[in-house]
Amino acid sequence: MSTMDECAVRADAYHLLQQDIYRHLEEAEYVAEDLLEDDEDSIELGSMLLVELSAMIRGMLGLHRTTPTGTCRTCGGPWPCHVVGTIYTMVKDPQRPFVELMRRSAAESE
Ligand SMILES: [Zn+2]
Repeated sequence: MSTMDECAVRADAYHLLQQDIYRHLEEAEYVAEDLLEDDEDSIELGSMLLVELSAMIRGMLGLHRTTPTGTCRTCGGPWPCHVVGTIYTMVKDPQRPFVELMRRSAAESE
């Protein structure tokens, strides 16, 4: 197999994997929408999904740490790598809903 073929196969495999992950995340979003129906089973399932999604993101973040030379251990690119940058933006960007949801959650627990 030529290098070009290997790149195409790898790109196809990555695309399929990405689509599968998107489907899983969409399922989690559907469960979250079901929570609005105030169904006890949905609330329990939603809570478990939220915990699992959080663990997945922490696991992903844990893999992308810096080396003493300032590169990502997993990606090999300059630190912070695009994975860390993407997670950081999604969690900390005030324009994204997550920041507002965390603010509301903190206010409710006071
Ligand atoms: Zn990385």
